Amino acid sequence: MALTEKYKCNNCGFEYETKDDIFYFNRYLTEIIEEPVNKKSFDEAGKSPISGRIDEGYCRKCKKFVKIYLISNNDNYTSLKNEEIREKIVELNGDKNIRVYFFQNERNRKNNGDLCGKCEKVLEWLYPESLCPECGEGKLMLKKH
Ligand SMILES: [Zn+2]
Ligand SMILES: [Zn+2]
Repeated sequence: MALTEKYKCNNCGFEYETKDDIFYFNRYLTEIIEEPVNKKSFDEAGKSPISGRIDEGYCRKCKKFVKIYLISNNDNYTSLKNEEIREKIVELNGDKNIRVYFFQNERNRKNNGDLCGKCEKVLEWLYPESLCPECGEGKLMLKKH
């Protein structure tokens, strides 16, 4: 079910694999579990108070990959406000660069405007032909599985 692609830089050999991961909190909201999408993880996510998808962009300024948490389910089991959920994810993750969105109303993929949580630069999506994040000279080429 998980759709991933592998890219390899035609200059320095850097390899990158796209991810198709979901995340969910444990029952006590003390841990975030991140797993590839499959039936088991999907079922677990359905039982969790807070769950959603993870995307990954790249910040050229910070020179690092940045996770984007897209919360798609927080309706039923928690009284936490959106801002509190956001703070919890940042706290548990420990990475100041990550972004947290509430899927329906906060994000529109069309404008491609996800920002780095630290420097606010627009994050890039890596595709075939993207400039290599490692050497900044080569291009990422799709690798056959
Ligand atoms: Zn940044
Ligand atoms: Zn490279």
